[in-house]
Formats: sequence, structure tokens, C-alpha cells
Amino acid sequence: MKISVVGGGIGGLTAALSLLRQGFDVDVYEQAVELKEVGAGVQVSANGTRILFSLGLEDDIMSIAAQAEGKEIRLWNSGQTWKLFDLGPLSIERYGFPYITIHRNDLHQTLAAGVRRIKPDAIKLSKKCVGITQDDKGATITFADGTTATSDIVVGADGVHSKIRETLFGRDDPKFTGIVAWRGVIPVERLPERMLRPVGTNWIGPGGHVIQYLLRGGKLMNYVSVVERADWQVESWSVAGTVEECLADYEGWHEDIRTMIKAIDVPYKWALMLRPPMDDWTRGRVTLLGDACHPTLPFLAQGAVMAIEDGFVLARALAENNGNYEAAFAGYEAARVERTGKIVRGAEGNLSRFHNAALKDPKLAEDYVNAEWQEDKV
Ligand code: FAD
Repeated sequence: MKISVVGGGIGGLTAALSLLRQGFDVDVYEQAVELKEVGAGVQVSANGTRILFSLGLEDDIMSIAAQAEGKEIRLWNSGQTWKLFDLGPLSIERYGFPYITIHRNDLHQTLAAGVRRIKPDAIKLSKKCVGITQDDKGATITFADGTTATSDIVVGADGVHSKIRETLFGRDDPKFTGIVAWRGVIPVERLPERMLRPVGTNWIGPGGHVIQYLLRGGKLMNYVSVVERADWQVESWSVAGTVEECLADYEGWHEDIRTMIKAIDVPYKWALMLRPPMDDWTRGRVTLLGDACHPTLPFLAQGAVMAIEDGFVLARALAENNGNYEAAFAGYEAARVERTGKIVRGAEGNLSRFHNAALKDPKLAEDYVNAEWQEDKV
């Protein structure tokens, strides 16, 4: 069976590696001219590392990841701190696998190397899918350069603006959340020592929050923040803002947050959109995975991990059904649609937990954190 994967992001590459390891012939078609991910970190919980390790990537991943001992909550202005939960030994004790934080490009390159070890020419660059057709013999992708590729089945892993999803299901209608995300990666030499403890921190405040965690064995600090503002509605990882604009969004916030923002070379901004979860992802020989079918707000840190799970489960379903793609796609959706929908809704639900009006008042804030920020709720 010949399989085309459209999109060489974290989800598409995990799918390709999982499928190659199951013995399928796979090609990945990626629109970018060069295979690289944005400069940002990603948290990968035990459900994700479990899969990455089973794909033979444990040593490579652990040599470039960082591990936080735990997660803390801090108040936006005073910096008051609460320990939320343990992320270190407890993750391994409970789930058998670590909770890691990793630079997106490091994860991406590790997955790509895994794919190329099995099929050196599997990843085709500068291949932007502009359309797809199918009949009883196969599915054919058309690329912007005028070439085509035909295979037995196609996996649309082409992200939140998926061309494959649009072709199969029509245009979507995202709703702007009124929230903009900022991100940046900071060399730790630019930060004071006291900020470099190996814990992940969620700073929560009225109308915004900030997440910080270490990457690359502690050499980099990942900064992600979100702020409620209605004047920016472009959903893209690659639009640069300025340090001044980002600082203005966090006026009055704790000195540590403003220190991080000032240390970022170029902060990037992304408008967060809401899309309701889809009920099915498949038409005939073509199915979807990752953000192409269940884009989620980043408030549970599970979007990339769900894309990793999708790729692995899809490959397993195809192998278990001996390449009978109709049965395999049905099994894949049965295993994935409900679970990923729960993540999308759960992340949306966390919005009010992160940005609660009670956080304006120091006394209310303390009661609110004690009541709401408990491990079984977040
Ligand atoms: P993408 O990563 O978007 O990859 C899609 C790929 O397809 C890209 O390489 C793109 O170039 C390619 N492509 C697109 N169109 C075409 C085309 N027409 N033809 C060919 N190729 C195409 N998730 C976590 O698990 N943990 C986190 O800590 C976390 N933090 C986040 C923080 C923020 C601020 C945001 C916005 C998201 C975060 N996420 C996190 C979510 C995560 O980034 C996404 O869910 C994940 O990247 C989805 O992977 P994907 O492979 O489905 O899509």
C-alpha cells in the first residue's frame, strides 16, 4: 500500500514514521522549502513520550529535551507562588514515561531523522498541495508546481489551515476568541539565576496569562503568553511583533515577566481562533489528523501530543486491518474523535480558569487559586 502524507509537521512526521515502521510505503509532501519548525517550545506529556519512545526515539529525544520537576502557579502582579503538581518522578511512577519540554525544531528534526533512517527520500519539500481528487483506483494530490502524486490513501496533516480539510469538508468558519498569543525563546544567560529553577510556571492574571519553562537541557527559556485584545486577528506562527508591543500588553505585571519579554529578540504573535470539534475526518481514501481536524486552544498543552497520538493510532489501525483502509479509518476515528473533542472542549473550558476576574483582587485571588487551581481540575 502506498500512502501520501500531506504536511511534514509534528503530526505528519509521526504518522510517516509510524507507518514506515509498520511496513507501509510512505511519502511526505511538505510545502516549506526547508524542513524546520518555529522557534518555540512544546510540552510533551507522558502520553506523547510513550509514543515517541516506542518509535525508537528515546535517546535522541532525551538528549535534547528538558524535564521540569513540577508546575507552579504564580500571581501576575505579586508573584505569590503555589505548587500545583509534580511533573518529574511522579509522571514516570504514574504513567511510566516522562513529561518533557522540548524545542519544536528539535522534536521535528528528530522525527524527520527517524523517517529518513527508514526511507531516505520520503520527505519531499516545496510541495504545496492545492487540491485532491479520488476514484476507485487511488487518490491524486495536485501541487502548486503543477506536479501530481497518486497513492492508495492520503493523510491530510496540513495543520490548522488544511487544504485537504477544505477540499473534503468545505471552508471552516473560525471564531476569534479575542485572545492573542505571544511567544519567544530566550538564551538563559540573559535571565537572572533565580528564574532558572527547573519548574514550569503558569502566571495567571486578569485578562492574560504567561507560561514559562526551560528547553534544551536548561539552555533556553520558552516564553508563551496570551492576552485579551481584539485588534489582532491573524492566525499564523510567523508574524513578528515587537518587544515594546508585547511589554505594553503586560503593563503592571511582575518584574520577572517583563524581564523575559525584554530578553526576547523577536516576539511572535498569533490570534487564537475557536473551531468546534469535527464529528468525522474521512472521505473515501482520504483522512485527516492533528490540527487539520481538531485544532485546539493551547490551554491544556495537548495539541501536538494529540497529533502524535493520531499518527501512531492511524498506523496501528492500518496494520491491524492489513491495509483495508475503510475498516482502518473507521477504527481510527472511533479511537480518536471523542478523545480529541474532549481535549478541544477542555482547553476552551480552561480559558475562564486562566483569566478570572477574581485575580484583580489579592484577597479574592488567593481564595480563587486555592479553589480552582487543583490538580484534578486543570
Ligand atoms: P502543524 O504543526 O501546523 O504542521 C502542519 C504542516 O503542514 C506544516 O509543516 C505546514 O507547512 C504543512 N502544510 C500546510 N499546508 C500545506 C499544504 N497545502 N501542502 C503541503 N504542506 C502543507 N501542543 C502541545 O502538545 N503542547 C504544547 O505545549 C503546545 N503549546 C502551544 C502553544 C501555542 C501558543 C500554540 C498556538 C499551540 C501549542 N500547541 C501545543 C499546539 C501544537 O502546536 C499543534 O497542535 C501542533 O503543532 C499540530 O501539529 P500538526 O502536525 O497537526 O500541524
